[in-house]
Amino acid sequence: PVGVLAVVGRPNVGKSTLVNRILGRRVAVVEDTPGVTRDRVSYDAEWAGNDFKLVDTGGWEADVEGIESAIASQAQVAVQLSDAVVFVVDAQVGLTDTDQRIVKLLRESGKPVVLAVNKIDDAAGEYMSAEFWKLGMGEPYAISAMHGRGVGDLLDVAIEAL
Ligand code: GDP
Ligand code: MG
Repeated sequence: PVGVLAVVGRPNVGKSTLVNRILGRRVAVVEDTPGVTRDRVSYDAEWAGNDFKLVDTGGWEADVEGIESAIASQAQVAVQLSDAVVFVVDAQVGLTDTDQRIVKLLRESGKPVVLAVNKIDDAAGEYMSAEFWKLGMGEPYAISAMHGRGVGDLLDVAIEAL
């Protein structure tokens, strides 16, 4: 059976951009407006000879209530159905309370999580990933979903977790 890798995080952090980068084509819908709730969408993906399912999600909503009612959300379902999770955060926004709440839900899921700090578009921005060690989710991988920077290293680790 092929492993299922779910991509989760707040709206607008770049989940769909990352999914498109991994697929090598523009399939997932990228939106400039945050908070547009969409269903989870599953794609057939391949990395370094490994086939897997890649699941894009609409994103966990920002407020506490949204998070608590997230039991029924597509992001929650995606995590439950996954073998491993890529948790995407936004370096340009920094660490948010919602990120912390998502960490709690991910811990409860018991699934292996790889932390991707997105929107680090050049080497000069690398330092921005460091603050995300605070999430206690292990090494924060600096990536630029837009330019592809760091995505290979992230996938190597994510594939190992499948
Ligand atoms: P999602 O809501 O998490 O799926 O986020 P999207 O993939 O729709 O992206 C939201 C916005 O962030 C879009 O305007 C993207 O172009 C932008 N974005 C995504 N990845 C990057 C990145 O690596 N660098 C920069 N600078 N912008 C990005
Ligand atoms: Mg999206």
